[in-house]
Amino acid sequence: MRVLRMSEVDLRGKRVLVRVDFNVPIQNGKIADDTRIRAAVPGIREALAQRARLMVVSHLGRPTEGEFSEKESLAPVARHLSGLLGEDVPLRRDWLDGVSVEPGRAVMLENCRFNKGEKKDDDTLAKRMAALCDVYVNDAFGTAHRAEASTHGIAKYAPLACVGPLMAAEIEALSKALERPVRPLVAIVAGAKVSTKLAVLGALAEKVDRLIPGGGIANTFMLAAGMKVGKSLTESELVGEAKKIAASLRDRGSEVPLPVDVVCAKEVSVTAKAVIKPAGEIDEDDMILDIGPRTAAAFAKRLSEAGTIVWNGPLGVYEFDQFGQGTKAIAEAIAGSGAYSLAGGGETLAAIAKYGVAEGISYISTGGGAFLEFLEGKKLPAIEVLEQRGRP
Ligand code: ADP
Ligand code: MG
Repeated sequence: MRVLRMSEVDLRGKRVLVRVDFNVPIQNGKIADDTRIRAAVPGIREALAQRARLMVVSHLGRPTEGEFSEKESLAPVARHLSGLLGEDVPLRRDWLDGVSVEPGRAVMLENCRFNKGEKKDDDTLAKRMAALCDVYVNDAFGTAHRAEASTHGIAKYAPLACVGPLMAAEIEALSKALERPVRPLVAIVAGAKVSTKLAVLGALAEKVDRLIPGGGIANTFMLAAGMKVGKSLTESELVGEAKKIAASLRDRGSEVPLPVDVVCAKEVSVTAKAVIKPAGEIDEDDMILDIGPRTAAAFAKRLSEAGTIVWNGPLGVYEFDQFGQGTKAIAEAIAGSGAYSLAGGGETLAAIAKYGVAEGISYISTGGGAFLEFLEGKKLPAIEVLEQRGRP
C-alpha cells in the first residue's frame, strides 16, 4: 500500500482527528442500522488504546451549510457510539477553534456539513480543520469518492495524514479482487438500471473473464439480443451500449450469459403471482422480476469455477420473496464458492443480510458509491490525496 496506515503512526498523547462515515439512518432519535458505526469502532478503539486525544468527525444527511439543524445533529450517533465503546463520548457543537480532549479519551465533533465550505472542499476550512490535529486519519471509505474539506482538503494540510484500519482493509480487498485477481475473474452486475452502472459495466468488461448481468440490467441485455421483454424494466436507449459491452467480451473470447428462464408477474407487489417462463417466451403484459431456477443453476455453476468473484446488485426484486429466489441462489453460490469474493452496494448489502450469507463472502464493502467508482477504475480523491502525501 502506498499510503501511510494509522497502525504505523505513534499516536500517544497526540491530537488525532479521525474522519468516519457515520451517515446512518435515524428514526425517532434511534439508529435504525448501525453497521457503519460498528465498522469504524476497531479504528477508534485502536487509537484510544494508544492514548490518543481523539476527535471523531462525520457528516450526516444533507444540511444547509452554515446552519445548525437538530435533524442532522450527530447527538444520537454520539450516544450510540458511547454505548458501543462503553464510555462517554461527548458531542462538541462548535469545534473549529479547537476542543480539549484528555489522552485516551474521545469526543465527537458535530456534523462537519454544518461548516460552510465543507462540500466545496474549501481550502480555508480545510486548513482550520488541519490545525486542530497532529494526525489526521481517514477511516471513511463510504465518502472516499467525494473531495470535501474533511475527506480531502484536510489531508493536504494536516501534519501527518494516514488511513485507518477500515479504509486500509477496503483498499486491500478491492485491489486484491481487481488489480491482482486469481483468475477466472467473474463479475455479477445486477440491480435496477444499466444507466446507473454503465461505467462499471464498461470498465469491468475490459477486466473480467466473465460478466453476468442480472435484474433490470439483464433485461436490457435481453432486449439487445432481440428477446421479448414485455413490460419489464428496460432502458431501450441503452441497447447500443449493451451490445458494445457484449461485443467487447466476445472479442476477448468470453460472452455475456443471458437468462434461459425468468420469473414473471403482471404487477410488482407482495401478492403478485410469480410464474416461471422460458426466457423470450413471455407475454406482452409480463414483467421479468427475477431469474428462473435453471438460470440460477447455470450462473451458480459459472461461479463455482471462479477464482475471484465481484458482486453488485440483486438479481431480482428480492424485496418480495416470490422474486427473491434468484438472488438467494446466487448469494448462496457466492458464499459457497472457494473463490475470493467481494460484494458491495446498498441493496446488495440488504440482500446479503436477508439471506444470511455474510459469513461466506470474503469481503463486504461498506461503500456504495465509493465501491462502484472503485470498480469503474476511478481514482478516489480521498485515497489519492493520501497517496500523494506518501509515506514520510
Ligand atoms: P445496489 O444498491 O446494490 O447497487 P441497485 O440500487 O442497482 O443495487 O438495485 C437494487 C434494486 O433493483 C432492488 O430494489 C430491486 O428490487 C431492483 N431490481 C432487481 N431486479 C429487478 C427487475 N428485474 N426489475 C425491476 N427491478 C429490479
Ligand atoms: Mg441501490
